Amino acid sequence: MVFIKRLKRGYNDVLNILYPRLCLSCSNVLHDVEHYVCHQCLSNLHLTNFDLEKTNPVYNRLSPIVNIEKATALFVFDKSGIVQELIHQLKYNNHQEIGKFFAKTAHDYLIENNFFKDVDYIIPVPLHPKKQQQRGYNQMTEFGRNLGNFFSIPYNEGILLRETYTESQTKKNALQRRENVSSAFKIDKPEKYVGKHFVIVDDVITTGATIEACAETILNKISDAKVSILALTMVF
Ligand SMILES: [Zn+2]
Repeated sequence: MVFIKRLKRGYNDVLNILYPRLCLSCSNVLHDVEHYVCHQCLSNLHLTNFDLEKTNPVYNRLSPIVNIEKATALFVFDKSGIVQELIHQLKYNNHQEIGKFFAKTAHDYLIENNFFKDVDYIIPVPLHPKKQQQRGYNQMTEFGRNLGNFFSIPYNEGILLRETYTESQTKKNALQRRENVSSAFKIDKPEKYVGKHFVIVDDVITTGATIEACAETILNKISDAKVSILALTMVF
């Protein structure tokens, strides 16, 4: 047994020399005890604690527009910060393992305050198929799937679907963004989900127009549905 352990450790040492594991934020070599992100970067990743209060900044931004149950964003948005760097790596550099890291962090934190109590499905903001094809993946898949495994809640990408191609949001103002996405989503077989509670997961909430449109679609199309929102971060 000791021999096998030593062999394993030796093997890991060789692997680390050949293919050092790097911090996904700063690219420094990770120590054995570090996973995905180094301790230094981790110490700069700050939780918002928004979910401790029902009326928090995310809920306050979204609830006047759409009737949501709960809403929170996990991490404090800081313009030059680690959250943005990690989300950028997740979205544009195919580092899907960051989704798993976020899910583990979210689980360890949210398990204490019942955010997922009575939730039936975790679903992502769907990408248009064309965009998903370009990127090769939905950046929330690993996050949602791992979160679902941790909380034993099904993660489903087949319920809320993208209907029409929306133009890029970046050059539009809040009202234009809202109009642009308001008819962009549809539900597959809404009769199957009557009375269910959905948590929509998203990476960054900016104006909130996209996620509001998702929530609205669910509430309009599925009888007695409930919607909550979990974002990685929100821009103020
Ligand atoms: Zn680092």
